[in-house]
Amino acid sequence: MTRQPVLDAAILAQGLHTQIIGKSLHYFRRVESTNDTAKTLAEQGAPEGTVVVASEQSAGRGRLGRPWASPPGGLWLSVILRPSWPAAEWPRLAFAASVAVASAIERSLGIPTQVKWPNDLVLDGRKLGGVLLEAAGSYVVVGIGLNANVRLSAFPPDLAAVVTSLEERLGYPVDLVGLTQEILRDLEHAYQAVLDDPHALMEQWRVRSITLGRHVRVVGAGAACEGVAESVDADGTLVVRTKTGLRRIVASDVSLRESPEVGR
Ligand code: ADP
Repeated sequence: MTRQPVLDAAILAQGLHTQIIGKSLHYFRRVESTNDTAKTLAEQGAPEGTVVVASEQSAGRGRLGRPWASPPGGLWLSVILRPSWPAAEWPRLAFAASVAVASAIERSLGIPTQVKWPNDLVLDGRKLGGVLLEAAGSYVVVGIGLNANVRLSAFPPDLAAVVTSLEERLGYPVDLVGLTQEILRDLEHAYQAVLDDPHALMEQWRVRSITLGRHVRVVGAGAACEGVAESVDADGTLVVRTKTGLRRIVASDVSLRESPEVGR
């Protein structure tokens, strides 16, 4: 049986009480990618804070064009932002969004959620969701994918071994409308914090991090290295202590993998 969450725009807007994020809400039962739909709306002049949410994505993406499984029951949403600050600092939004989703889950459901550099949400050592930033011109789309009410059997078998969902953890489906509203509220706070108190925001990311202090292997074009993840700069750059010295790793074209020498 496929359970369809009620994520209707009018229901989401009711009692949302945000100033920017979600002032304009678009719900679709199925889209190729909420980020793509949001980009189209942004190009047409959609205001800052416009939210696109879908019950299902037929061609969801991760970073570097990797496929993102988006079966019904998950939360697949994208937010259009038009930050006034320099584009070089927009990557901070990936950390802001990760913190927002993790804190909303913790507050609403009492489940401690972790983050993995640069953009993963992790629960019980498995991937619970992720954030995908896509910037163009004067706007940035913040995509959030969260395995909320998705059973493991709904994922391709290779993914089922490495992902988890809120329903899987709790044993019952969560209130997707309530959780989405909490996420949008926390995202609004985190967006403001990027400007007002970026250090506090990064601290919130750090305390949830499963990356820092670990032995990591960085894979990707020209940046391959191995060492201990020491810190994350305010702009999101990961600093790795390798045998030959410190390496600064920018998220755009690399991934982190478990290293055989994992340890603190
Ligand atoms: P990585 O975490 O490897 O850097 P991304 O953040 O770009 O990669 O996410 C894409 C990867 O996430 C896919 O290659 C796949 O392994 C995994 N994935 C796909 N769909 C989901 C999902 N719904 N939940 C968790 N992980 C997923």
